[in-house]
Amino acid sequence: MNKKIYSYGRQTIDNDDIEAVVEVLRSDWLTQGPIVGQFERALCERLGARYATVVSNGTAGLHLAGIVLGWKEGDLVLTSPMTFLATANSIVYSGATPDFVDIDKTSYCIDPEKLEDKIKACRRKKKKVKAVIGVDYAGHPCDWRAIKSLGTKYDFQLVDDACHALGGMIKRKSLASCEYADAVISSFHPVKHITTGEGGAVFTHSRDLDAKLKICRSHGSVRDPRVMEKDEGPWYYEMHNIGFNYRITDFQCALGVSQLTKLKKFLDRRRSIAHFYDHVFESDRRLIIPEVDGSVVHAYHLYPLQVRFEDLSISRKVFFKRLSRKNIHCQVHYCPVHLQPYYKKRFGFKEGDYPIAERFYSREVSIPMHPALKRGDLTYIASAIIDSL
Ligand SMILES: *Cc1c(COP(=O)(O)O)cnc(C)c1O
Repeated sequence: MNKKIYSYGRQTIDNDDIEAVVEVLRSDWLTQGPIVGQFERALCERLGARYATVVSNGTAGLHLAGIVLGWKEGDLVLTSPMTFLATANSIVYSGATPDFVDIDKTSYCIDPEKLEDKIKACRRKKKKVKAVIGVDYAGHPCDWRAIKSLGTKYDFQLVDDACHALGGMIKRKSLASCEYADAVISSFHPVKHITTGEGGAVFTHSRDLDAKLKICRSHGSVRDPRVMEKDEGPWYYEMHNIGFNYRITDFQCALGVSQLTKLKKFLDRRRSIAHFYDHVFESDRRLIIPEVDGSVVHAYHLYPLQVRFEDLSISRKVFFKRLSRKNIHCQVHYCPVHLQPYYKKRFGFKEGDYPIAERFYSREVSIPMHPALKRGDLTYIASAIIDSL
């Protein structure tokens, strides 16, 4: 039997990544120093973005985006139930009220038609939607053109939780370029496209928002005499708004700079793994492979395979057990957020509220997808999946 252990995702770290980190560990700066700005400039250049603020993790980035966009108690912010806890939690952090819109059957991202229905229903109840957070599920960009035109029509802000979609594109333009959203958030968690251990970034097109993000990342403190009430000396700083300590370290950013040079290679590898899986699974009636809209470039953070367990004699639990005996450790993305006990109790969501997301959850299995998987690994994994069914 194959002795390797396969998980649904993991980091790919080479010697040059390690050397880049060690070099910074020997320098004068450990926490926020010169490499933070270097990483931000490299991200902007690589992704065609105007401004980037790197932070301690993607969740912090989502939180800061809501703060600088002015979300507060009483505001209504909509997102997808098919996402990680962090997306919805970031709405709660700002004091705003979270609500959900069901996903589209094929992209697994927020459904723009249902979004418009929801906005109309809110307006009938005299509730205004402040913002929408779209989640580019598995790396497939949302239908941002449709969401943006709704944003213009009904006047709401757009945030792109692109934590699955670094390198994802619409009509050959990267999501981080902020063509659609006011803020685009990335994560550099080890299972994501590139890693800094923990880490994240917020991209914007607005100089004003970017300045606010950088102040808010570090306690809300400012030292620029042009914005201070007075200047008592070189030690002096002022705080005008509440901020946080969401800084990232220089040695993490050194890892980020080194990893970013490999982004293209990583994305190419993820795409060819997806093509391999598509090819072996597409004709199997028990399975549903992810579809890709012709106008987008999928970033394949995940390979979400749907298994029609409802027609099979085995449960997902048994399927997972059989695969894990073969050292294949899959995951399910995600338990729908509205069914989390906290969201049910505090906001009154219940089973049946978002049936497309709930059915998708019941079938979804995220199978191994990361750049280090070789052809031999993939044939082993694919036949183990078929055998286990
Ligand atoms: C990874 C992820 C985040 C942020 O996660 P961090 O671990 O805080 O970097 C947010 N949203 C989604 C959809 C994610 O997958």
